[in-house]
Amino acid sequence: MLFQIKKSMTVNLTIDSLQKWHPHTKPLLIAGPCSAETESQVLNTAKLLKKYNHNFIYRAGLWKPRSRAGTFEGVGNKGIKWLQQVQQQFNVKVCTEVATAKHVEVCLKNNIDILWIGARTTANPFSVQEIANALRGVDIPVLIKNPISDDLDLWIGAIERLNLVGITKIVAVHRGFFKPAESEFRNAPMWELPIKLKSLLPDLPMICDPSHITGNPKLLPHIAQKALDLDMDGLMIETHENPKVALSDAAQQITPVQLKKLMDSLVIRNQFSDSITFKNKLEQLREQIDILDNEMVDLLARRMTLSKKIGKYKKDNNVTILQIRRWKKILQTQSKHGSLVGFDDEFIRSLFTLIHDESIKVQTNVMNKK
Ligand code: PEP
Ligand code: MN
Repeated sequence: MLFQIKKSMTVNLTIDSLQKWHPHTKPLLIAGPCSAETESQVLNTAKLLKKYNHNFIYRAGLWKPRSRAGTFEGVGNKGIKWLQQVQQQFNVKVCTEVATAKHVEVCLKNNIDILWIGARTTANPFSVQEIANALRGVDIPVLIKNPISDDLDLWIGAIERLNLVGITKIVAVHRGFFKPAESEFRNAPMWELPIKLKSLLPDLPMICDPSHITGNPKLLPHIAQKALDLDMDGLMIETHENPKVALSDAAQQITPVQLKKLMDSLVIRNQFSDSITFKNKLEQLREQIDILDNEMVDLLARRMTLSKKIGKYKKDNNVTILQIRRWKKILQTQSKHGSLVGFDDEFIRSLFTLIHDESIKVQTNVMNKK
């Protein structure tokens, strides 16, 4: 697969489709506790998952990267044999997080089926490269979570590093991004970033981890449904036999029964429909959209012509470009106007900020013209 990452940088990636290495019904489901805690917790959770959900990959973290020292950092190597028991007793594939070459070595020696790279590790190219080096020439699927910060290049960089050592079974995992302000989510979804990654790498399988985005079970259905509606290939959802007593991420885990209810409630839509009526109707609506888009661009061009005139007028009268009162007034008026016709305030503000920035650019050019 050849694609463009930055204008200056074309990269050759070879990535297998998910179907090729893991036949599954859509959505692919990865479920299991945040951390492996005890043998009975690992096995009971798997047993309940098997009872209520037919098709899933089992997850459990053995080495937990915790932000603060002194919190539960995982059971480590001790948990490997519990995961092997899950493989044998329930005939499911198991995956765990790796952050160092040593973790990779232990997993490979013990036939762990799938590895994942956590958000804190994706953020560090040295660690990603260390993991990649330990995987050179190995044929194992690797899930790559987005980095904590909203830096798409770091996410792409991790995918590249793994691919360059020969890993072709790669899945991107969208788990949300660090949020600077208070929000209803534990991590901001910033859907525009996974969408951008998808448009850069259309063949890269991508799943969503709503547990780490929401931080609580209440918002899980909404985020899970949204991920599927954005055509993601699957979901990773933290599931624990008894979430209340979980040693990590207790607030966001759900029970296998709750998971079954959640999965049953999701609407699985198709990417395409072969119905002729659907296609015709869609085509008609798209034509109307195209006409409006053209009109919108023409209108913006007319608006910019006025900005140019204003720029010239300000220049002749030696007046500054930015007129903060006027700008505030536009925002206020259009927010009000927008809300009357049903627009979200944030949408109107972002739209007008873009238009205003462009108008300033146009006026700056006029002002500085010799
Ligand atoms: C996890 O999956 O438990 C985990 C630590 O996730 P993240 O790396 O997304 O924080
Ligand atoms: Mn977790």
